[in-house]
Amino acid sequence: MTTDHNGSLVNGAWLTKGNVFKNINPAKPLEIIGDFLTASDTAIADAFTAAERALKSWRQTPAPVRSDYLLKIAERIEIRADRIGHDMALEEGKTYAEAKGEASGSAAQFRFAAAMALQPDGATVQARDLKTALLMSRVEPLGVVVCITPWNFPISIPAWKIAHAIAFGNTVVWKPAELTPLTSIHLAEAIEEAGLPAGVVNMLLGHGSEIGQKVLSDSRIAGLSFTGSNTVGRQLGVAMAERGIPTQLELGGSNSSIILSDANLDIASREIANGAYLSAGQKCTATTRVIVESKVCSEVIDRLQVFASTWKVGDPFDSDSVLGPVASLSQFDRLVERLAPIKDFQVVAAKEMNPDNGYFINPRLYKGLDQSNNIFATEIFGPVICIIEAENYEDCLQVANNTEFGLSSSIFTTDMDKALNFSSESESGVVKINKSTTGNEIHVPFGGHKQSGSGTSEMGWAAKEFFTRWKTVYFGK
Ligand code: NAP
Ligand code: MG
Repeated sequence: MTTDHNGSLVNGAWLTKGNVFKNINPAKPLEIIGDFLTASDTAIADAFTAAERALKSWRQTPAPVRSDYLLKIAERIEIRADRIGHDMALEEGKTYAEAKGEASGSAAQFRFAAAMALQPDGATVQARDLKTALLMSRVEPLGVVVCITPWNFPISIPAWKIAHAIAFGNTVVWKPAELTPLTSIHLAEAIEEAGLPAGVVNMLLGHGSEIGQKVLSDSRIAGLSFTGSNTVGRQLGVAMAERGIPTQLELGGSNSSIILSDANLDIASREIANGAYLSAGQKCTATTRVIVESKVCSEVIDRLQVFASTWKVGDPFDSDSVLGPVASLSQFDRLVERLAPIKDFQVVAAKEMNPDNGYFINPRLYKGLDQSNNIFATEIFGPVICIIEAENYEDCLQVANNTEFGLSSSIFTTDMDKALNFSSESESGVVKINKSTTGNEIHVPFGGHKQSGSGTSEMGWAAKEFFTRWKTVYFGK
């Protein structure tokens, strides 16, 4: 553990009091990483007071100056990327290599948002009315925005929300996930080191079920950007809608990859194993359903079985570990329980270890599943591939779209017509051709369709849509 603090950051000050919660190493659950402090009701109220006060000057701060702050934050993240990667692997369980990559990607998010802050903020148009000298529309920040983020990308998701929120002049109250306080503190420290004015970004530590309601009951909230589960997201979305507060929800998925018989099966299998198994399958974009044309189904299974049976599941710091543990005991228990019923089907790879020795779940490969299997009703969120056979491209497409989710999808084929058709017919927000469903560039929009998201997309040029609103100004002669 390499941070200097263990409490929330409110109005530029690190809190040192609060109820203690423990941070557990999922690879060695008997090892407590450290004690962290839950934000009190007073701290929560203070965070909004600070954000509201800071908003007055931050929204007036010239965009080029805000942009400079973002570049400094990027620099501070980059400087500590190794430490962030270390602490993220320790508390969340993804491999050190993946964690370090995520930290560096987060610095890039701030650099991108720094550039976006310099883009035109509106347009002038000519009025029909001759008594109007100037007619213009400009975007303004929303105000104090709340960002609520999950543990599975504990720095990149907060980074892409916070970077764009502050780039466009908002101030932030951020509630990170309880499972990853260390990584969250790293980001808050980087922000502090960059000299961002006090109160522009406030971070509140604590369990969602304990402090979430208090955070979201504050009357000063101008917007909510939430990433997490469908259950929590929908519930918060309803509460915000009742209060007329703009809300952006990025939720779960049940992502599919189609393999057609003309595909390069070596590329397809590797990409799918990466998409399903890395980060122990705990990515919102993780590949779950693999829909294969019958002709090549057994060849695909043979190839995937090699990955499922040889990829090492182990400590995130062992250089030969491909998968670390899942992030928590509740994740572990949920998966074990969830996957038990499908043992009736042919389980190709499944051996569970004792959770006391780490929350390790071996990569799973199931075949012979029907698209209507109950397992697909909700997100799996673990290292699981479910093979569904289909007769031809049209059937594959039907199965791929036969879900209430719509986050990410992919197709493996050398047929350009089918690839193009899939890119338009796939009902998901991200579509990949001959690539895994996971992994996103930071400078393009990202967001789920159907039940996987609502509100405007995040990232890229789309990020501005959520964090700003239009104002039209008429200048009479
Ligand atoms: P979660 O349980 O919904 O939690 C998400 C965040 O909400 C956490 O900070 C959580 O706090 C907080 N929270 C929980 N209950 C709350 C309440 N009543 N009021 C306010 N905040 C509350 O999701 P998770 O298990 O952390 O994350 C995994 C989920 O996120 C998966 O479904 C995954 O697909 C989804 N996800 C989606 C995307 C996307 O972009 N579409 C990206 C990544 C992850 P605590 O953690 O402290 O409880
Ligand atoms: Mg932990």
